[in-house]
Amino acid sequence: MFKERFHFKLILSYFLVVLISFGVVAFFLDRSLEKNSFQDIKASLVNQTILIQNQMSSEQLIRSNTVDLMAFVRSIGSKINARITIVSSKGKVLADSQRSPDEVLRMENHADRREIRAALSGQVGEDTHYSNTLKKNMLYVALPVQDQGSIVGALRLAIPLTSVDKTLWTVREIVIMGMILAVFLAFGLGWIVSAKTIQPIKRMIQVSRKFAEGDFSRAIPQDSRDEIGELAATLNKMANDLESKIYEIQTQNQHLEAIFSSMIEGVIVVNGSGQVISINSAVEKIFAITHKQGERCPLLEIIRNNDIFEIMNKALITGNVFSKDLSLNYPVKKIFRISASPVFEKGVVSGCLVVIHDITEIRRLETMRRDFVANVSHELKTPLTSIKGYVEALLDGALEDKEHSRQFLKIVSEHAERLGQLINDLLDLSAIESQEVALNMTTFDLKGLVQKVLSNFQTQIGKQGLNIIDELSKDLMITADRARMEQVLTNLIDNAIKFNKPGGSIKFSGRKIENKIEIVVEDSGIGIPATDVPRIFERFYRVDKARSRELGGTGLGLSIVKHIIEQHHGIVEVESSVGFGSRFLFTIPV
Ligand code: ADP
Repeated sequence: MFKERFHFKLILSYFLVVLISFGVVAFFLDRSLEKNSFQDIKASLVNQTILIQNQMSSEQLIRSNTVDLMAFVRSIGSKINARITIVSSKGKVLADSQRSPDEVLRMENHADRREIRAALSGQVGEDTHYSNTLKKNMLYVALPVQDQGSIVGALRLAIPLTSVDKTLWTVREIVIMGMILAVFLAFGLGWIVSAKTIQPIKRMIQVSRKFAEGDFSRAIPQDSRDEIGELAATLNKMANDLESKIYEIQTQNQHLEAIFSSMIEGVIVVNGSGQVISINSAVEKIFAITHKQGERCPLLEIIRNNDIFEIMNKALITGNVFSKDLSLNYPVKKIFRISASPVFEKGVVSGCLVVIHDITEIRRLETMRRDFVANVSHELKTPLTSIKGYVEALLDGALEDKEHSRQFLKIVSEHAERLGQLINDLLDLSAIESQEVALNMTTFDLKGLVQKVLSNFQTQIGKQGLNIIDELSKDLMITADRARMEQVLTNLIDNAIKFNKPGGSIKFSGRKIENKIEIVVEDSGIGIPATDVPRIFERFYRVDKARSRELGGTGLGLSIVKHIIEQHHGIVEVESSVGFGSRFLFTIPV
């Protein structure tokens, strides 16, 4: 019943309307009925009195003939449903239709009764009062009885008031019955009408519940043009708007989610109390953690890093942006720049965005640049110092000493040569690195190129008695920048000669594997210690600085090789064993 309160209320209102309107009508009806029926009864009583008055002889009254008068009232009284009383002009009761003659004699004087008093003074007397004789409320009507113009007595008719009430109750009963019927009708009608009114509302509730659950597949049926129909239309429109808004928000969320998760930077979003709202996959990767989306827990529980925690706290407390560099050793050895920016909502800090930026590469490049400048300066300084020293010695008089001056000038020339070599290598390196010069790709046979480069090294090869083993097939063609490839081979062969043992060997081989060509330059030289292997492609890195310098090396050869090969989208690797030789392998895509 409570569930259908509206239904109940509607029925109740019908019920009340009928009850109140009927009640008001019944009240006034009853009032006027009571008045009218009383008047009617009174009028008919007066008429009856007049009729009886006309039948009686005033003479018997004058003579106070009680016996005759008694017979008269009794005979009429038995015919009409009223009590008839005859009173003398002095108020003495002479006859009464409902009393025995003895009782009549004992009846008290009626001269002081209001109706009798009025009748004896020539008027129509009427009154309602309690009858001591009959012990009930009665309506009295009295008329004067005249004889030749003078009043000789009074004739009184009385009926019990209960009969008036009876008449009234008969009417009241009808009214009450009518009212009960009307109330039942109202109830039935109210039921039907309210059920009809409620039905669309119920349907509306059902469908709007679905709306609330996010199901917009159904629309509220709109079968009327009244307020309820209008409400249904408004709700449908609202649902439509809501659906498109939700769709829009979902799409936006998906976009944001996609951006968020595909970001290279790690992003952590925390709320005002420092609880993680979301973290992206970059953060998960950096810290080797997994975080369930939507789960809220304190930052330290997910990422056990005090630096991040502190910087986040600072941003949350002060509302300022903070940054800090963080070196991680586990799970990866990297350097990160962490920035914490507060998020404001209505001017109050409501959360914080922590962005983790991998700056390892930037740092590495910075260090490299610094080292490079230091190395270049150092490399330039050494030959320059020597040149300066020998030139000064020559100026100081050694020039006169023919034998020494020649030797000094030779050394100066060697150092100048070294300087030139260094500058050439640096220029090459910077040209390759800047990638300004595009590759001039041609297809050529590798064997031919190796032969050409080897011919430039004939003297050194002969001097060291090196054995050249060329296993390259004549039809191994490669597509590359020929000049750059020549430089690669020159540097590799130069090293293979420089770091070889007398009577050692240099072997060339090449083959095509899938979509690349693999070329190997192998020597039986001094080899490279395992600890140095990972670094020999760095600029200016030399295993034995003195030896390399002595042999005219700049420490740039292999880094030039690596750059050129990478420019060709290939890779270069080295395998080496100290005392046994080194094996340089590089690939060029077909
Ligand atoms: P460099 O001008 O000194 O030759 P590179 O960059 O060409 O500079 O080589 C770097 C270092 O790697 C050399 O100094 C040397 O120590 C080592 N190296 C290169 N090639 C060989 C090799 N074939 N055998 C042994 N050591 C080598």
